[in-house]
Amino acid sequence: MSDRTITLRNPADDSVIQDVPLATVHDVDQAVIRAQAALPAWRDMAPNDRVKIMRRFAETIAAHAQELAELDTRNMGMPIGSSKWCADTAAEVIHYYAGAIDKHLGHTYPVAGGVTMTFHEPLGVVGLIVPWNFPVLIACWKLGPALACGNTVILKPAETTPLSAMRLGELALEAGIPEGVLQVVVGTGPEAGWRLVEHPMVRKIGFTGSTAVGKRIMAGGAEHLKRVTLELGGKSANIVFADADIETVAASAPGAVFDNSGQDCCSRSRIFVQRPIFDEFVELMIAETQKIVVGDPMDPATNMGPLFTRAHHDRVSSYLEGVTPTWTGSAPTGNGYWFPCTIIATSDITSRVCTEEIFGPILPVMTYSSMDEAIDYVNAHDRPLGLYYFGSDKAEEQRVLTRTVSGGVTVNDVVFHNAMEDLPFGGVGPSGMGNYHGADGFRTFSHMRAVYRQTGVDVAGMGGFKAPYGKATLKTLAKELKK
Ligand code: NAD
Repeated sequence: MSDRTITLRNPADDSVIQDVPLATVHDVDQAVIRAQAALPAWRDMAPNDRVKIMRRFAETIAAHAQELAELDTRNMGMPIGSSKWCADTAAEVIHYYAGAIDKHLGHTYPVAGGVTMTFHEPLGVVGLIVPWNFPVLIACWKLGPALACGNTVILKPAETTPLSAMRLGELALEAGIPEGVLQVVVGTGPEAGWRLVEHPMVRKIGFTGSTAVGKRIMAGGAEHLKRVTLELGGKSANIVFADADIETVAASAPGAVFDNSGQDCCSRSRIFVQRPIFDEFVELMIAETQKIVVGDPMDPATNMGPLFTRAHHDRVSSYLEGVTPTWTGSAPTGNGYWFPCTIIATSDITSRVCTEEIFGPILPVMTYSSMDEAIDYVNAHDRPLGLYYFGSDKAEEQRVLTRTVSGGVTVNDVVFHNAMEDLPFGGVGPSGMGNYHGADGFRTFSHMRAVYRQTGVDVAGMGGFKAPYGKATLKTLAKELKK
C-alpha cells in the first residue's frame, strides 16, 4: 500500500483484487462542501418526490444485489449466501425508510393563546462511518434513515472493504439521487474518518465500529457539540437453563456463533450452560458445529469463509496461545486467512477468550449452577450488546431479564433483532449509545423542532371554556333550555 492507495486482497487466497485511492483531508473537505450545496434542494423536496427517488434507489440495489454480494464476498470473505442476503436486506431497508418519509408525522399541542406544532427537520450534512464486517448492510442501515430525513450524507466505509460502498454511490446516482446527496469517501479512519468528526459543517456522526474508536469519536464530536450515535463492540451472552430444549438450542447455536466467521458484533460469543446439562450440551454443540462447511466463500454451499485480513487472522490466533481447545474443526489450508471453528469448554470465566471480543470463530462454553450465578456472569462483562435466554420457566425468565443489562434480548431463539430494519437496535454502555433502525432511525437523524403559533385563542380543554359557538347560537340554546 502506498501512502495514497490501499491494495485490497481476497481473503480466500490472498490474491490482489485492486488498488483503491485513499481520500485526503482536502478530499473530505471538498465532499463536505458538495454535500452542503446539495442540502437545500434535497431537504426542501416534496416528501412524495423523495419517496419516489428512494424507492428507485431501493429497486436499483435489489437489481444489483448479486453484484454487491460478490463484491463483499471477494473483499472480506463472507459466504455468498450470506452476502446476497445482506444485499437483499439492504434494499429492503431503503424501501422501509422510503415508505416512511411521508408518514414522518409531527404533533400538535393545544396550548394557551395558540397552538404548537412539531416538525422533524434534517440535521444537515451527516457523516456515516462504518466497519468492514457487514459492508453493504450496515451502510444501508444508516443511509436509509439519514437520507429519508432529508440530510445529505458522506459515507466512509472501512478502507479495507470499500467496494460495495463505492458501487452503492454509483447506484444512487443511477437511481436519481441528486449529485452531492450521497457521496462515498474511501479513506483511513484517522485521516478521512477523523476529518468528518472534526469538520464543523458535519452535524452528525453515525458510527459503527470498535469501542475504542467510538470513545474518540464521542470526544471529537463534543468539540462542536455534534450529535453522535455509536454502535460498538459486543460480547453477547447466551444463558441456557437446564429446562431449555437443548437439542434445539445446540442445533441453532453454531450458526449464531460462527456466522460470518464470528466477525459479528452480535455474535453469541459466550455460552453459559447450567451444570446438569453442561456435558451433554457441549457434545451436542460439537456435533452440530461439525456440520458447518468451511471453504470457498463464492460457493453457495459454504457456511463459513476465511477471516477478513491476515492481520485479523493473526489477532484471532493470539487467543489460542497457551489454550487447549476442547474441539477444533477443519478449514482449508493454503494462502487464505483460514481459521477453523473452535470450541473451548472452560471454567475460567476470567480468561481472555471469555472476556474479550474475539471477532473470530472461537467459542467459550462455560457453566453455572444457579440463576444468581448466571446473572452475575452476564453482568460481569461490560459489552452487553445482546443477551439470549433459553429456558421454559417464565418467572425465571422474567427475573433474568429484569436483573441483566443488554442492548437487546432474545428469548428461546438465536435471532437478534439488529437484523430487522423495523425494530429498534442499539447497545448500552461500552456496546453503544443511541438506537437506530425502525422509527428510531428517524429520531436519530432528525431534529424535532417545535413551532408555537400565537392565535390569541386558548384551545378548548386546555385554556378554559371560551364560547366555542357564535353568540347567536348560544342565545338559541339558552332559549331552548328555558322551555
Ligand atoms: P474500527 O473502530 O477499527 O473501524 C470502524 C470505522 O471507523 C472504519 O471505517 C474506520 O476506518 C473508522 N475509524 C477508525 N479510526 C477512526 C478515527 N480515529 N476517526 C474516525 N474514524 C475512524 O472497527 P472495525 O475493526 O472496522 O469493526 C469491528 C468493530 O465494530 C467490532 O468491535 C464490532 O463489534 C463493531 N461493530 C459493531 C456493530 C454494532 O452494531 N454494534 C456492528 C458491526 C461492528
